[in-house]
Amino acid sequence: MTSEEIKRLDASSFMPTYGRFGAVLCSGRNASAKDCEGKEYIDFGSGIGVNSLGWCDEGWVKAVCAQAGALQHTSNLYYSPAPASFAAELCRVSGYAAVFLGNSGAEANECAIKLARKHGVEQKGESCCEIITLRNSFHGRTVTTLAATGQDSFHQYFFPFTGGFRYAEPSLEDVKAQMSENTCAVMVEFIQGEGGVLPLDPQFVKDLAALCRERGVLLVADEVQTGAGRTGSFYCCQQYGVTPDVLTSAKGLGGGLPIGACLCTEELKDVMGRSMHGSTFGGNPVVCAGALEVVRRVSQPEFLAQVREKGRYLRQRLEQMEGIAQVRGLGLMLGALPSRGTAAQLAAACVEEGLLVLTAKDSLRFLPPLTITQEELDKGLAILERVLASA
Ligand SMILES: *Cc1c(COP(=O)(O)O)cnc(C)c1O
Repeated sequence: MTSEEIKRLDASSFMPTYGRFGAVLCSGRNASAKDCEGKEYIDFGSGIGVNSLGWCDEGWVKAVCAQAGALQHTSNLYYSPAPASFAAELCRVSGYAAVFLGNSGAEANECAIKLARKHGVEQKGESCCEIITLRNSFHGRTVTTLAATGQDSFHQYFFPFTGGFRYAEPSLEDVKAQMSENTCAVMVEFIQGEGGVLPLDPQFVKDLAALCRERGVLLVADEVQTGAGRTGSFYCCQQYGVTPDVLTSAKGLGGGLPIGACLCTEELKDVMGRSMHGSTFGGNPVVCAGALEVVRRVSQPEFLAQVREKGRYLRQRLEQMEGIAQVRGLGLMLGALPSRGTAAQLAAACVEEGLLVLTAKDSLRFLPPLTITQEELDKGLAILERVLASA
């Protein structure tokens, strides 16, 4: 099929929920892809922070293919080596006591919300079910995670939304003002990804963790985008010096297959007891075999040091670039505010020129594969420089 045929076929059958860029991606290696006609693209987006080891990483492909050839699905009615090994390794690497596996970030957050509410209700009674989230946050697209999302633009059409969410500005005073004896949890992203790549203030995070501990309120970290090595530590909370009671992880954790993980501390590990939660596909062996490869590789100190090093280089190049007003973020999760042209126009022009970049609100957003090479970084930066120069 030609690229044009694919675009026509796509438009004739999907619900029009996505405004796609023009690129048609057919094959790829690491951070370089080709369309059906052989045009090359450099990847600064990883499929929205998903392909953490790039396209078709040898070790990941081998693990996934071997598992697909052995046993593709078992259901959660039976034991199986791949999910057991992955869950154990993820707990070991993250320092958490237990994990629930689903298929997406939204599902990981649904589990965290259910856990926090059950814990609150058991500790303090039926009215202790409120969760505070931050303004400008993003927590997913299910009806409940839309309600958790602190942006009015997401609270339309799909009424009635799940109740029990209160929204606070990222300041201790405002969180305190929203907090009551009915608060069971505060849920935050350390760097608001969809919200524009906006890192929380480190002192606010420390104070928030202390406040939650003092009031017996759970701190839930949505690390769906910041997790699995993206920011240069396995989880971003490590750089903020706090240990959330519950942490959700998805996107890059599976290296390209659907996964969502909700991790919790020793104290909380029995809150979600038998029959309290479940998922048909959660913990799928093929997904887990790939995710185990991701976790083993990404958690190596040398691997994480490389992520920080590449992040420093990318940030420095962006900061020096004509047409970029401000750079924000950590590791290989960076946002750049353009000083001319809109982020949407620039991203479309970049894709046209062979560079896949993302946007977040009015910023360009960079989430390259953690394995991106120096050569691929430089190729991509040259395209961006050219696009900015003609904007
Ligand atoms: C992407 C994202 C989600 C939603 O993940 P899905 O896999 O699309 O359900 C939730 N929270 C954050 C912080 C995200 O970046």
